[in-house]
Amino acid sequence: MITQAPIQMVDLKTQYLRLKTDIDEAMQQVLLNGDFINGSFVRQFQQDLAAFLDVERVVTCANGTDALQLAMMALDLKPGDEVIVPAFTYVATAEVIALLGLTPVWADVDPDTFNLTAENVQAVLTPRTKAIVPVHLFGQCADMEPLLHLASANGLAIIEDTAQAIGSIYRFADGTERMAGTIGDIGCTSFFPSKNLGCYGDGGALMTNDTGLGERLRIVANHGQRQKYIHERVGVNSRLDTLQAAVLSVKLPHLPDFSRRRQEAAARYDEWLGNVPGLRIPVRAAASTHVFHQYTLKVEGDQRDALKSHLQQAGIPAMVYYPMAMHQQPAYRRDEYPAGSFPVSEALCRQVLSLPMHTEMDEAEQEYIAAKVIEFFNAE
Ligand SMILES: *Cc1c(COP(=O)(O)O)cnc(C)c1O
Repeated sequence: MITQAPIQMVDLKTQYLRLKTDIDEAMQQVLLNGDFINGSFVRQFQQDLAAFLDVERVVTCANGTDALQLAMMALDLKPGDEVIVPAFTYVATAEVIALLGLTPVWADVDPDTFNLTAENVQAVLTPRTKAIVPVHLFGQCADMEPLLHLASANGLAIIEDTAQAIGSIYRFADGTERMAGTIGDIGCTSFFPSKNLGCYGDGGALMTNDTGLGERLRIVANHGQRQKYIHERVGVNSRLDTLQAAVLSVKLPHLPDFSRRRQEAAARYDEWLGNVPGLRIPVRAAASTHVFHQYTLKVEGDQRDALKSHLQQAGIPAMVYYPMAMHQQPAYRRDEYPAGSFPVSEALCRQVLSLPMHTEMDEAEQEYIAAKVIEFFNAE
């Protein structure tokens, strides 16, 4: 089969063209209003997102990495405090911990969901542990209920990194449901263009059900001031542009549809790739919906890189998220974490491969991708 346009990992243009009229109009309105900083779309979007997530307070900020930093500042974490993060994650989570002089402590992840587990967190707890950062990797929630129990038994804060899982729903044992990011003390998300809810530049947000904490987040994000020129604490300047808020205001009502499109694309991949020996399709967590920020395969037996180049030769992009565990990164290496410290995370770095996934996936294109994956294993 010959496909028309080059296959892309993420297709932002086609989505834009579908929503163009509304997005152009909203952006035009900002240009005419001239309220580029903290404009009306920013206030509106904070309220709309809070309503969508069913959470008390949303505070927007400049990007997802800032959101994590603001969360740790608002929680008054101090140098020497330990924060537990997964060894298999995007670097942002660990970076802000180190920047603030806190100590990142890694924990291994579940081999099926790639997420932090309460058992693995328990294994690395110390009297200095102050917070846990579960990352809802690739679009499904970490198993939060056991983590919440562990946190409350040990007086720890939970900061959820939901940059990849906005719109995902977590189910408690009693049937209660909560949106990703609204389960722990603070949720952090990113509106980086390729995220499930993306703007056309950088953007981020924090969410919390604790009104006091919500107020502190707002103050920290705004130079530590509640009242102009009175700086009650050390803060930063971290704002969502009004232009980006305008884009997000248009996109937010479409988020359930975006998630559905991703889930339908994932179901098609599943159907075609579910029975390939040597290949594991994504496992769905029992307690969470999956919004497929990534569709991530596990390739057994050291074949991953060969499969990746086989796909590349067929014009199919595929990406390795992530090739190196946190404790092995040059900037974060410590003697106490030799190779083999986190065997699941280390194995995943050798096995994972993410296929193209976005809201505009074309069925014929997916069929071609699946056929090329199957071809690789048949040729073995
Ligand atoms: C994208 C991402 C971030 C950082 O978001 P930015 O807006 O790029 O700063 C943090 N954590 C995870 C898991 C991410 O995927």
